[in-house]
Amino acid sequence: MDIDLLKRFGSIRIFAKGGKLAPHKPLLLLYALAQFKNERIERIVFSDAESMVDPLIQTYGPFNAKTSVTYPYARLANDKSGIWWIEKHEKNASGDLSLAEARDRDLKAGFSEDVLRKFRENPKLIDLVAINLLDRNFPPSLHRDILDAVGLYLGQDELEVVIRKKRDPRFRGIVLSAYYEQCAICKYDIKMNGAAVALEAAHIQMHSAGGPDEVTNGLALCVIHHKLFDLGALTVDDDMNVRVSERVVGDWGRKLNDEFHERPIALPRSTSMAPAPQYIHWHNRQVFKGVVR
Ligand SMILES: [Zn+2]
Repeated sequence: MDIDLLKRFGSIRIFAKGGKLAPHKPLLLLYALAQFKNERIERIVFSDAESMVDPLIQTYGPFNAKTSVTYPYARLANDKSGIWWIEKHEKNASGDLSLAEARDRDLKAGFSEDVLRKFRENPKLIDLVAINLLDRNFPPSLHRDILDAVGLYLGQDELEVVIRKKRDPRFRGIVLSAYYEQCAICKYDIKMNGAAVALEAAHIQMHSAGGPDEVTNGLALCVIHHKLFDLGALTVDDDMNVRVSERVVGDWGRKLNDEFHERPIALPRSTSMAPAPQYIHWHNRQVFKGVVR
């Protein structure tokens, strides 16, 4: 295993101060990994990066993400890790790549030559780098979706092993029990042979953004509401009311809004177990696709 290469990918500056969510770089890197693994494409042309990665930044990035793929596409090459290369280009007044030039010339960028060489010699490294990027930047409930979106396919075992081993298994038990083994939003509580199924302990502040494995940073959520919560379609405010994003549409979006928006969550058995304000605020600001006043 090439520890050095993993460290270089691990050193990329991703979270800004205060756990601010900035998944632009990891999303572009995951897309580039998929392109190399699937088609041996070594150079990502700007128009592809824009059409493929920009929508992902909207989905997995913070609300009203202003930065487009232009930002990581050029900035990654300035990173000390030396993992990224970009074709020569003019810089605009603020030292960034100009979107017009990137589009006009359809610039090329991609992994640096020595990284490509390592991937060619040992293709297994591609999966390892991808798993590390996912683990450090996104909640586990979204890993599979992100891999599907960039077209990267890993063995299920590889994904599970790395991601699960770092988690505290007690967290799930403590959180589910605190919420009477029911979804805090819809009270879903199906059990089979005495065990809760399709019910999960969600981290309010993502584990990878420093959220602890504590009951006050947890919510018991059914798989659907967990995913919607991690995508920012839902959040919980200071008064423990559910907020539904205005981006949610469709018949089920209407149902979600009518049934749960501004209605209280099902509280845990003790007030000391309720979600703590700092984690709620983090989720409101960094993940929720809307504004909580
Ligand atoms: Zn639910």
